[in-house]
Amino acid sequence: MPKMNEYIRTWDNANRKWVYLHRVIAEKMIGRKLTARDVVHHINGNVKDNRPENLKVLTHATHFKTHRQIYVSCTVDGCPNKHHAKGLCKKHYRLRYPERHYSNKELTRRGLYVL
Ligand SMILES: [Zn+2]
Ligand SMILES: [Zn+2]
Repeated sequence: MPKMNEYIRTWDNANRKWVYLHRVIAEKMIGRKLTARDVVHHINGNVKDNRPENLKVLTHATHFKTHRQIYVSCTVDGCPNKHHAKGLCKKHYRLRYPERHYSNKELTRRGLYVL
């Protein structure tokens, strides 16, 4: 069961802080810094798979559409429930996003809104 702390982090020595690796890789891919409008999408749904070919930088609107189009059922192995949000059923969504009281904008700012 992926949790927030399963996202791989890397030390950013220039800014003296931990950053999410997929966001660093995505920034290299597109040749600029990510903004609050950008969402890094893991194409195969595996948040540990940070190969450039598995990452895609999308706007919130496109990201939302992408997930709506792809997911019919929950993507967790062996889960038979139907899709609720972000590739997950209601149960798994709650488990993965316990901090859902944050807005998407706030999650993006923290580098957490990434699935
Ligand atoms: Zn996504
Ligand atoms: Zn599920």
